[in-house]
Amino acid sequence: MTDIAPLSARLSELSSARAGGARLREGVLTLVLDVSGLGEQARADLAALVEQEALKFEGVVQVRIAQTSEKPSMTIIAVASGKGGVGKSTLSANLAVALRRLGVRAGLVDADIYGPSQPRLLASEGQKPEAADKRMFPIIGAGGVPMLSMGHLVEPGQAIAWRGPMAGNALSQLVDAHWQGVNVLIVDMPPGTGDIQLSMVQKHKPAGAIIISTPQDLALIDATRAVSLFTQAGVPLIGLVENMAGYVCPHCGEISNPFGSGGAEAEAASIGAPFLGRIPLSIDIREASDAGQPPAAGSEAEAAPFMAVATQIKAWLERR
Ligand code: ADP
Repeated sequence: MTDIAPLSARLSELSSARAGGARLREGVLTLVLDVSGLGEQARADLAALVEQEALKFEGVVQVRIAQTSEKPSMTIIAVASGKGGVGKSTLSANLAVALRRLGVRAGLVDADIYGPSQPRLLASEGQKPEAADKRMFPIIGAGGVPMLSMGHLVEPGQAIAWRGPMAGNALSQLVDAHWQGVNVLIVDMPPGTGDIQLSMVQKHKPAGAIIISTPQDLALIDATRAVSLFTQAGVPLIGLVENMAGYVCPHCGEISNPFGSGGAEAEAASIGAPFLGRIPLSIDIREASDAGQPPAAGSEAEAAPFMAVATQIKAWLERR
């Protein structure tokens, strides 16, 4: 094992004893940097200096710095639906990718504790997060998205049968990770309106919520319940997204609407919420998603519906 005592001493000296807890594993050095009392620029400069110096040390290929201070300010956006299978995870993953393409420093939390699908969607299955100072570091998924999911902590296919409070704690661990460099956190909520949703809304106070629904009525009734969960808790509704609308036949090009069309837009109008856009039902979206290649990271045409929603979210962020 490499003796990192000399490196630790050097980093401590360099940072006026703010750097500590260094650990080196498979070329990855993790360390804790106390940045309390420093302004944003001073923090960034100190972290850059420590990283630069650490990389000079033999055996260090990557440096992960956990900055401890008062909680960093992050804008949390919850993506929710009234029921499962309507494309909430697909939208969350692609929204994070699309926002990053637009220059927003977005990260992703998979709060779908009981059925995490983000590791598959963003090609980070099987990766395990490192931790320092009792907090996890995000994993970098497809499209460069920093992300954390329960799926990174349990074996694939393992049933998760937690009771409410434990699940709430697990969610907090994902949200309160070392999200340095991320200032907008997209949270893929579990479907429905249960304990986790409540704990998310009460403890982590999202700045806004996006509700996704398919066009059919049943999904919309459920979506309306999801809407009231947020509005009752005082979380502003950013808007509604309609998914699986307008299927383009790959053979003849005819557009059909297997799940109807326009339902979410009409619902948005009736509750006075913005309508953020429509994602078509497309085999390409499903295939690319299953293969861990988010369409939002692809060519212009594939990415377009997600980029359109992301552009509106970026505008919403800028208006705040
Ligand atoms: P949820 O998170 O709401 O349960 P998912 O995002 O996991 O839903 O989507 C459910 C299934 O539907 C997945 O197989 C996904 O690839 C597929 N899907 C989602 N949106 C679309 C779409 N617009 N076109 C085709 N398939 C889609």
